[in-house]
Amino acid sequence: MTTRVVVLGAGFGGLELTTLLSDRYGAGMDITLIDKSDTFTFGFAKLDVMFGRKMPADVRHAYRQILKPGVRFVQTSVRSFDPSTKRVVTGAGTFDADILVVALGADLDPAATPGLVEGGHEFYSVEGAFALRSVLPSFDRGHAIVGVTGKSFKCPPAPSETALLLHDYLVERGKRGETTISVVMPFGTPVPPSPDTSAAILAAFAERDIRFVKDTLVSSLDPTRKVAHLSNGTEMPYALFLGIPVHRVPQVVVESRLASDPFNWVPVNKQTLETKFPGVYAVGDVNGVGTPKAGVFAEGAARVVADGIIARIEKGPSPAPYAGAGSCYIEFGHEMVARVDVNFLGGPKPTGTYLPPSEALVAEKTHFVSSRVARWFS
Ligand SMILES: Cc1cc2nc3c(=O)[nH]c(=O)nc-3n(C[C@H](O)[C@H](O)[C@H](O)COP(=O)(O)OP(=O)(O)OC[C@H]3O[C@@H](n4cnc5c(N)ncnc54)[C@H](O)[C@@H]3O)c2cc1C
Repeated sequence: MTTRVVVLGAGFGGLELTTLLSDRYGAGMDITLIDKSDTFTFGFAKLDVMFGRKMPADVRHAYRQILKPGVRFVQTSVRSFDPSTKRVVTGAGTFDADILVVALGADLDPAATPGLVEGGHEFYSVEGAFALRSVLPSFDRGHAIVGVTGKSFKCPPAPSETALLLHDYLVERGKRGETTISVVMPFGTPVPPSPDTSAAILAAFAERDIRFVKDTLVSSLDPTRKVAHLSNGTEMPYALFLGIPVHRVPQVVVESRLASDPFNWVPVNKQTLETKFPGVYAVGDVNGVGTPKAGVFAEGAARVVADGIIARIEKGPSPAPYAGAGSCYIEFGHEMVARVDVNFLGGPKPTGTYLPPSEALVAEKTHFVSSRVARWFS
């Protein structure tokens, strides 16, 4: 009998998993990939659009281009699912699975930070980042804060990258002299697992006169007085607030009982990424395996789950356990890209190796994108 695999969420994790299973089984597997959106956008492409480096249409990849044997893409919202029966209820009907993969990512909750919706901007959603494209040209004076509002957030280097790109953007427009930039982050350094990466980012900040406020969150904004209240009890004036909103476990996942509450990411077996329900896996940002919330980790997790599903079907030996390792590209400004190779589960504590900015890494990042687009959307 054909195995029915239902994958919830067509982000980094869902796309990679679907591709691997289709490559292996073709029409011999019945794969349903469900997403509420009609397009996929790489997280870092949001920065490209917001700073006017790319047009929105250039970074949206339409799911209708997915033409893979055995795969059916369904654009609809997941309304509920039951991990014990593996039944999924959506706006387009009910789906029953033999294997269920939850890859719904992390939800963003700007309203959880008082004043953010009324008095600031967020750049973590596609809509928020694309809207900033027409807001940034009017920022020509005063203080810009790139501020994190919750402890767990996607792509820890992204706030630092944003500050460096904002610096370049303002220099190009002749406005850097009238503006100041601060980054407010809940960590002691920009990229804690890699002291070398953090030192290089802090040196770049010092060169560009960007202030780094460590171990601190933005708790609220007062849009009337135009000040941000910080978790250390101080306040900071702002003319432009670029926020990283509070991240939450998607409500539909909490209601499924896979997560106990909106701030406890889905517990999984650290080696297989299977949840406590047999045949139900959680991949990517939605799980609590202990790696950062980043596409490269979601992709690595998808590979482990694909191997696990293959071993299950073919009754093969247990696959290699999840390594929790990945390489993140870092926009360093001046059109340069650096890289940090991080490993979260390979030793007693996370480690990171820094590769300084270079033209070669710019090309490598471009290839990273084009190779995924070719694999996932062919
Ligand atoms: C500004 C920024 C820069 C970033 N830079 C990088 C980077 O350089 N490198 C890197 O590796 N990562 C980066 N990231 C992080 C990366 O984008 C995410 O970690 C990654 O997308 C997570 O993959 P995922 O598959 O777990 O979830 P996602 O890619 O978020 O996919 C989840 C999918 O589920 C769908 N969904 C959610 N709820 C429902 C529902 N109820 N019904 C139907 N569909 C639903 C969503 O539409 C979405 O398509 C960045 C993120 C941001 C915001």
